[in-house]
Amino acid sequence: MALLSLQGISKSFGGLRAVQELSIEVERGAIVSLIGPNGAGKSTVFNLITGIYRPTSGEILFGGRRLNGLKPNAVAGTGIMRTFQNIRLFAFMTVLENVMVGRHVRMHAKLWDGGLHTPFGKREEAATAETARELLKYVGLDAYESEWARNLPYGMQRKLEIARALAAEPALLLLDEPAAGANPTEKHRLMELVRAIRDRGVTVFLIEHDMKLVMGISDYVHVLDYGEKIAEGTPESVRRNPRVIEAYLGKGA
Ligand code: ADP
Ligand code: MG
Repeated sequence: MALLSLQGISKSFGGLRAVQELSIEVERGAIVSLIGPNGAGKSTVFNLITGIYRPTSGEILFGGRRLNGLKPNAVAGTGIMRTFQNIRLFAFMTVLENVMVGRHVRMHAKLWDGGLHTPFGKREEAATAETARELLKYVGLDAYESEWARNLPYGMQRKLEIARALAAEPALLLLDEPAAGANPTEKHRLMELVRAIRDRGVTVFLIEHDMKLVMGISDYVHVLDYGEKIAEGTPESVRRNPRVIEAYLGKGA
């Protein structure tokens, strides 16, 4: 059984059909990519999975459990974490604190219970900081733990967002254009990081609009255009597909 299964999901905004009858299976342990020109509906798919939008029709199953209608926090609790196309960090928290916040999704002593001031809470907070430091090292940001998140260059902010998502120990990580705005060197480093995350045992569902970038790392690729799937398959087969080539022509992608 696939870890994530989208079964004929649709979403309309007024008269605009942003996602139409889309079916995608994400196998456990894979890197599955969703590509397509700007405006194709890619981010909307993530917003549907994570409960920001409700599908107009169709089913979303994660580990066999139906996610339709769950609120974003509840979806996160099932083991799905995501990053956003427009980076959403806590600008006035340090790098370390940003990752610790991600970890709190899993913590027992909740901040809002005042749990931090109990011995149990303090121990847990120390453990949280330690795990956060390990993750910062993993993404190559350990030298910056005391910086304010907003002071990091763009590529590093992207990595920080990924570290924060990993802190919750998701089974599935949704990455929405993690390389957007990065320079070519950073882009390739980010793709290496995506591969490393998969090798760590986290299943990855990756959105990217630059087709070339995902070709080297994806096990399977789905191509969206105007909300509809126009192709799917191995990176090689998708790249040669005439419909895909046509969809990308003249769209500056
Ligand atoms: P992509 O991520 O592939 O660039 P999006 O999923 O962001 O595309 O958007 C798909 C289409 O849906 C676009 O035409 C976009 O303008 C529209 N859209 C996305 N979100 C909304 C919204 N909340 N309200 C109205 N239209 C939206
Ligand atoms: Mg998008």
